[in-house]
Amino acid sequence: MKGNVIIIGAGFGGLSCAIRLALQGVRVTILERQERVGGKLQQIEQDGYHFDRGPSTITMPASFRSVFDHAGVEMEDYVQLYELEPRTRNSFADGTVVDLSGNRERMKEQIAAYSAEDAARYDAFMDESAALYAEANRHFLGKLLLSPKDKYNLRMLRSLLRVRPTVKLDKLLRSYFQHPHTLAMFGRYATYVGSSPYQAPSIFAMMGHVEAEEGIYGVKGGTYQLIEAMTRLAQEKGVQIVTGIEVRQIVVRNGKVAGVDTDQGFREADQVVANGDVLSVNRLLLAPEYRKQMSDERIRRYEPSISGFVTLAGVRRQYESLLHHTVFFPERYEPEFDHIFRDRKMPADPTIYICYSGYSEAGMAPAGASNLFILVNAPYLSDSWHWDEQMDRYGELVLEKLADRGITGLKQSDVLIRYTPQHIERDTLAHQGSIYGISSNSVKQTFMRPGNKSKDVQGLWYVGGTTHPGGGTPIVTLSGQLVGVQLASEIVT
Ligand SMILES: Cc1cc2nc3c(=O)[nH]c(=O)nc-3n(C[C@H](O)[C@H](O)[C@H](O)COP(=O)(O)OP(=O)(O)OC[C@H]3O[C@@H](n4cnc5c(N)ncnc54)[C@H](O)[C@@H]3O)c2cc1C
Repeated sequence: MKGNVIIIGAGFGGLSCAIRLALQGVRVTILERQERVGGKLQQIEQDGYHFDRGPSTITMPASFRSVFDHAGVEMEDYVQLYELEPRTRNSFADGTVVDLSGNRERMKEQIAAYSAEDAARYDAFMDESAALYAEANRHFLGKLLLSPKDKYNLRMLRSLLRVRPTVKLDKLLRSYFQHPHTLAMFGRYATYVGSSPYQAPSIFAMMGHVEAEEGIYGVKGGTYQLIEAMTRLAQEKGVQIVTGIEVRQIVVRNGKVAGVDTDQGFREADQVVANGDVLSVNRLLLAPEYRKQMSDERIRRYEPSISGFVTLAGVRRQYESLLHHTVFFPERYEPEFDHIFRDRKMPADPTIYICYSGYSEAGMAPAGASNLFILVNAPYLSDSWHWDEQMDRYGELVLEKLADRGITGLKQSDVLIRYTPQHIERDTLAHQGSIYGISSNSVKQTFMRPGNKSKDVQGLWYVGGTTHPGGGTPIVTLSGQLVGVQLASEIVT
C-alpha cells in the first residue's frame, strides 16, 4: 500500500473518498468522533420503530452506484434502491394535491386542475430544467476546480453564462409559471441546498428534471443502509475505520501536514482529508497561521445554509394522505425565508415535510403503526433563536399544524424524539448547525465554494457539503470520489 492518509469524518464524503483511495492502493484510516459512522445520517431504533435521522430524499443514484462500479462489485449485493412513483406528494393549504410524477401527462393534468396556463408551460420548463442539469454535469459536478486555470477558463465562463447565474430561481420559475402552488413546488428545490428560492441562482431548477425524470429513490431497510453498504465496501478494501475518536488538531510541520492530534494521542499521516464542515475544521483544528485563506473574518463572511428541526414520531395509526414523501405547504411560502434568513427565527407557518418509509416497506414500524420523520426548515444557529427555550413549544406547534392538515394523534405517539440545529452542531460539528455547509444564496457561494485542496497547508484536502461541488448526499458522494482519485494520483510512491 502507498501513502498514509487520515480522513477526519465518516459521512458520505469521507466514506466515498476512502473507498476510491483504497481502490488505488492507498493506506487509509477514517477517524470519526461519533460512536457510529454516517455523519448527519444516523439510524434510530426504538420500540419497534425504525427511523433514519437525516437525509431521506435520495436522488441521482448514479453517484452512489459509481462507488460500487469502480470497486468492480454489484451495488445490489450491498444495498438496494427502489424508484418511487409518485415521487413526492405536494399538499397545499387549500386542499390541492400534486403528486410529483415521472409521467409528464399526469403532471400536466394535476397542474391544470388549478392552472391551465401553468400546465401548458410544464413541458418547456422541464426542457430548460434538463438543459441546466446537463450543463451542471458537464462543467461543475464532475470535476474538481483546483487551480485558477480550472476555474477561470473560457469554457467555464461560457458555461456559467449559459446557466445565467444572476437570475434567481424564483425569477426563472416566474418566467414559466404564475400560480403560487407551482412556484412553491419547484421553488422548494432551493432548500435542497439549504437556500432560499428568492436568492439562490436559477441553476437549481435542474432539480425538476432530476426528481421527475430521473427519479427519487427509497433505500431498502432505510437510507442508513447506504452508509452500511459503503462502510462494508470500505472495510473490504482495507480501510480502517475508528469511531469514538475526536481529532483536536491538524498538525502541520514546515507548511505540510504531519498528522493529527486526537483525544487519544497523535497519529501520523502524510495527507489529511477533512470530511467535517470546512469552516469548523479551519476554526477548530487549524492554528491561524496555517489558515491565511480562511481567517476568522472570512469564516464570518460565509452565510451558512439552513438547518433543520426534526421530530421523529412513532405512532399507532396510519394516514391515507401520506406517501413515502409528503410536503405540506403553508398558505404563503415566501415569509418562511424572511423568517429564516433575515430574522433567523423559526417560520411562524412552516412548510412541513414528512418521510414515511413504512409506506413503502413493511417492518419499519409495528403493524398498523407509522414511523414519521418530520422536518421543518430552520435558521442556522444565532442569538436570535434559543432552542433550549423553544424546542418543546415549537415542537407542539408543528404537531398542531399537522393535525390541522389531517395528521392527527401525534401528541399520543409511542415515540416522540426532537432533534434541533443545536443537536446537529453538537453531534457533527456542523458550523452553526447548518445542514448543507454554506448556503447557495449568492453566485459566489454557489459556484465558488471553498476548494477541495488547502491553499495554506500542503497535503490537506476537503470533501463534503461545504466544499465544491456542494451539499446533499449524491453531490457529497461525488466530491469524495473526485478527491479520492485526485489525491491518489498525487501520492508519490
Ligand atoms: C435533517 C437533515 C435532513 C437532510 N435531508 C437530506 C435529503 O433529504 N437529501 C440529501 O441528499 N441530503 C439531505 N441532508 C444533507 C445531507 O445529510 C448532507 O449533505 C450529507 O450527509 C453531508 O455529508 P458529509 O460527508 O459532507 O458530512 P457529514 O455527514 O457532516 O459528516 C462529517 C463527519 O465528520 C465528523 N467530524 C467532524 N469533525 C470531526 C473531528 N474533529 N474529529 C472526528 N470526526 C469529525 C462528524 O462527526 C461527521 O460524522 C439532510 C441533512 C439533515 C441533517
